[in-house]
Amino acid sequence: MSAREVLIAGGGPTGMMLAGELALAGIDVAILERRPGQELAGSRAGGLHSRGIELLDQRGIAERFLDEGTPAQAAMFASIMLDISDFPTRHPYALGLWQNHIERIMASWVAELGVPTEYGSEVVGFAQDEDGVEVELSGGRTMRAGYLVGCDGGRSIVRKAAGIDFPGWDPTVSNLIAEVEVEVEPEYGITHTALGISSLNRMGDGEPLRVLVTEQELTAEGEPTLADLSEAMVRVYGTDYGIHSPTWISRFTDMTRQAASYREGRVLLAGDSAHIHYPAGGQGLQNGMQDAVNLGWKLAQVIRGTSPESLLDTYQAERHPAAARAIRHTMAQTAMQRPEARIEALRGAIAEAMEMEEPRKHFAALISGLDIQYDLGGEHPLVGRRMPDLDLTIAAGEFRAYSLLHEARPALINLGDQGSLDIARPWAKRVQLVDAGYDGPWDLPGVGEVDAPAAVLVRPDGHVAWVGTGEDTGLADSLRRWFGEAH
Ligand SMILES: Cc1cc2nc3c(=O)[nH]c(=O)nc-3n(C[C@H](O)[C@H](O)[C@H](O)COP(=O)(O)OP(=O)(O)OC[C@H]3O[C@@H](n4cnc5c(N)ncnc54)[C@H](O)[C@@H]3O)c2cc1C
Repeated sequence: MSAREVLIAGGGPTGMMLAGELALAGIDVAILERRPGQELAGSRAGGLHSRGIELLDQRGIAERFLDEGTPAQAAMFASIMLDISDFPTRHPYALGLWQNHIERIMASWVAELGVPTEYGSEVVGFAQDEDGVEVELSGGRTMRAGYLVGCDGGRSIVRKAAGIDFPGWDPTVSNLIAEVEVEVEPEYGITHTALGISSLNRMGDGEPLRVLVTEQELTAEGEPTLADLSEAMVRVYGTDYGIHSPTWISRFTDMTRQAASYREGRVLLAGDSAHIHYPAGGQGLQNGMQDAVNLGWKLAQVIRGTSPESLLDTYQAERHPAAARAIRHTMAQTAMQRPEARIEALRGAIAEAMEMEEPRKHFAALISGLDIQYDLGGEHPLVGRRMPDLDLTIAAGEFRAYSLLHEARPALINLGDQGSLDIARPWAKRVQLVDAGYDGPWDLPGVGEVDAPAAVLVRPDGHVAWVGTGEDTGLADSLRRWFGEAH
């Protein structure tokens, strides 16, 4: 029996992102993944929104994804396109890259960081005591860890075994999604019918046809078959185009739920295990990644003893409202996709509103994940928001703000008088203290230009914990609150 500091159930995007974060913080972590190998059956999510790309950029690995994907304007609210090309970010676009490729690239990053992934390992339960968690695997094996994080998807065994409630809304609509071959090549694109939205697309030259169809009747249970797919296609298109040789058929619904608690003792939840919703707006993947980067450094500091256990409470306090907000907007989008004349009229009215600058920027910032503001107190509009990836200057030249976050370590960036933040010196082992210059605007997505700060304290997740306006008022408290006592 082996013991680790952290075991992660589930090696999807959330589990891998979290494993990377913990490994960067020097934590002994392993992933237990039910799948027999790294490969993901089916393509699933179509890519990353802007903040998702920024998260990867914060760790210095965005290029690996950008090299394989296709940048595109793809932020949409209820199928209304929202152009973000004028947004103040290094990545004012979404990246088209199928989830199976995203996961492959993430898996190689995690392996480089030395995280072992045990494939074919299904978590079936656990028992926790004061010092740790005994994780039960199928086949009767057990493993021990200080903490267990359930990143095991919407049907999370960890959530169920922890007895955590999953309140929400039952499904009203189901879709089939599949990758197949056809005898007759169809016309590609999106079709709106009385049933709802359907689409047909080739995934690339020589790649399978990706089919998405709304089912006539809500079906929430059971594995879908080729016959189910054929029947649903005939209803929508009048033909199934001679579908055959499926490599993937799956069903999803608009069931919407959120875990009442993200933590039960030494067991935590992140990603789809903590929140599920319809894929409208493409929010799931980046919400899971945001959970992971929020939790990773906090869990590491608690394990290392640099912060009290109460730091973990801030994970729920910050991420639960963020996912609840995403869920509300996903439900609104799902409602607006209903094929009913009055709802189509409503969608038209909202689309008109979205052509105006302010509504477009507001909703585009929401969908692209760039507008998240955690309630951390503080007056300045930057507090709780993501740090922009500015070009900062030092005597030796220019460097990007995000390069300070590659190792997932916090940074205090002093843009004012050198030495004016000496109060932070006792934290220098844990927090990077950087004197730099920046003369440009501070422009925040969905907010606009804000007063230039004299200093910013940036957490490892890229969110600003404290803003200085020329004095060090509140800095020591903020350093203590987020990074433990000075020593
Ligand atoms: C059709 C479709 C399209 C989508 N499109 C988008 C999109 O465009 N953009 C977007 O952001 N999101 C999209 N999503 C949502 C996105 O796919 C999910 O939100 C995302 O995969 C969540 O990641 P996760 O790691 O939390 O969970 P998952 O990806 O579900 O990963 C969970 C992992 O845990 C493993 N596991 C499960 N149970 C156990 C167990 N007991 N023991 C060990 N391992 C276990 C699973 O094998 C899996 O690898 C889409 C989803 C669907 C279905």
